[in-house]
Amino acid sequence: MTEEIEKVKVLIIGSGPAGYTAAIYTARADLKPVLYQGLQPGGQLTITTDVENFPGYPEGISGFEMMEDLKKQAERFGTDIRWGVITSVDFSSRPFKIIADETKTIMAETVIIATGATAKWLGLKSEHKYRGYGLSACAVCDGFFFKGKDVAVVGGGDTAAEDSTYLAKLCRKVYLIHRRGDMRASKAMQNKVFCTSNIERLFGYVPVEIIGEKNVEGLVIKNVESGATENLAVDGLFVAIGHSPNSGIFKGQLEMDETGYIYTHPGTSRTSVKGVFAAGDVRDHVYMQAVTAAGTGCMAAIEVERFLSSEHEQ
Ligand code: NAP
Repeated sequence: MTEEIEKVKVLIIGSGPAGYTAAIYTARADLKPVLYQGLQPGGQLTITTDVENFPGYPEGISGFEMMEDLKKQAERFGTDIRWGVITSVDFSSRPFKIIADETKTIMAETVIIATGATAKWLGLKSEHKYRGYGLSACAVCDGFFFKGKDVAVVGGGDTAAEDSTYLAKLCRKVYLIHRRGDMRASKAMQNKVFCTSNIERLFGYVPVEIIGEKNVEGLVIKNVESGATENLAVDGLFVAIGHSPNSGIFKGQLEMDETGYIYTHPGTSRTSVKGVFAAGDVRDHVYMQAVTAAGTGCMAAIEVERFLSSEHEQ
C-alpha cells in the first residue's frame, strides 16, 4: 500500500508565538496552513511564569494561558494544528519534501520555521546524573518540589532573575550564582532580585560540580577571581544560562551562524532558500521576546503570501 502524499501551501513548524502568529495571518489569507506543534506544544512560554510585557495584557497573563489563547485564535481561522514533530526536511527543490513523525510525507510549497530555542546546560559531568534528581532548567515546572528548601540558580539574565524571584516565594533560601559582578537582566528584574530578602547573591562564582548520593545535596562553587573552591549545601540547582536554537534538522540546508541561528535576509524573514522563511527565536539571539517572535511570525506570513501570489502572477 502506498502512503498518500499530502500537499500543502504553507507548512508551519513550531507552536510558540512566532508559529501561531504566522498561522493566524496565513489562515486569514486563506492559505490553509498546517502547523506541527513539535516537542513542546506552545513553546517556551508554557513553562514561564506571568508574562507582564506582552502588549494588551495590563494585568499580565500566565505564559500557558497566553499560548492557549494564541492557539485558539489560530484555530478559529482554520489552521490545521497537529500534535507531532517534523523529523526531516529536504529543501533542495520545491515543493519541499517534509517528513513528519518519521513516516508521513508532506510536500510544501512554502515553509515557515518557528522552532524556537531550548535552555542550555552548564556542561558539568554530573549534570546527566542529577537531572530530575534536584537539577532542573525550569523553575516553574519543578520549583514546587523544593518548597521550604534551599536552592541555587545559575545565571545573570532575565531567566535567572525571574527564576530566583519565583523560587524565593516557595523556598527557604535561594542562592543566585553568577559568574560576573553585573547582571545582564533588565533593571526591573534586577530590582526584584535585590529587594527579595531570601535571595543571596553569589556573584563572581561558578558551579564546578554537583554533590549528592542520589539527589542534589550541594555544589562545589569556584571563585572566578581567586580560583578557590568551596561547598554550598543546597537541595536543588536551577540552570538559567540562556538558550540554543532548535535548528538541528535544517543543518546543511540553510545558512546559519556558528551557533545555529538561522540566517534571514536583513529586514525580512527570508532564509537562504527561496520559499523557506524563519521566525522567532530560531533566528533571533538578540531580542528573544514573545512580542518580537510574534512580530517576525507576522512578517513571515505576509512574505509567504506575497511570495505565493507573485508566482501565480507569472
Ligand atoms: P541570557 O540573557 O543569554 O543570559 C544568560 C546568562 O547566563 C548570562 O548572565 C550569562 O553570563 C550566564 N551564562 C551563560 N553561560 C554560562 C555558563 N556556562 N556558566 C555560567 N553562567 C553562564 O539568557 P536568558 O536569561 O535565558 O534570557 C534570554 C532572553 O529571554 C533575553 O532576551 C531575556 O530578556 C528574555 N527573557 C525575558 C523574560 C521576561 O521578560 N519576562 C524572562 C526570561 C527571559 P554573562 O552575563 O556573564 O554572559
